[in-house]
Amino acid sequence: MSETRVPTAPCSKCGRPVAETARRCIYCGTVQYRTAPGTPERAADEAAAVEEEKKLKRQAALYRAGVGMPKEEKGAAGQKAAAGLADILISVLMLGVRPIWAFKRLRTIFKP
Ligand SMILES: [Zn+2]
Repeated sequence: MSETRVPTAPCSKCGRPVAETARRCIYCGTVQYRTAPGTPERAADEAAAVEEEKKLKRQAALYRAGVGMPKEEKGAAGQKAAAGLADILISVLMLGVRPIWAFKRLRTIFKP
């Protein structure tokens, strides 16, 4: 069994080992710059980090608001359908016992 280890470098803020290919520290979220300070590449990296920060904040807000989660209305509709099916089953079973009552009930279920 061979184990491949990703080269790591200590985080500039918390000092914990972070993969050299990672853009951010997985522990504290600090952006790990691989470019030399004061260069145009570093300035571009910093600008990209600011944009990414905004995006992450937007995503966090969306997740907190429940975007992408199953809708409550969907669940309610499913329950309604299940209740309708139970109604039909009861009505069909009752056709032999109380035919008029069951027939009326079935008619209310299948009313458009
Ligand atoms: Zn860190």
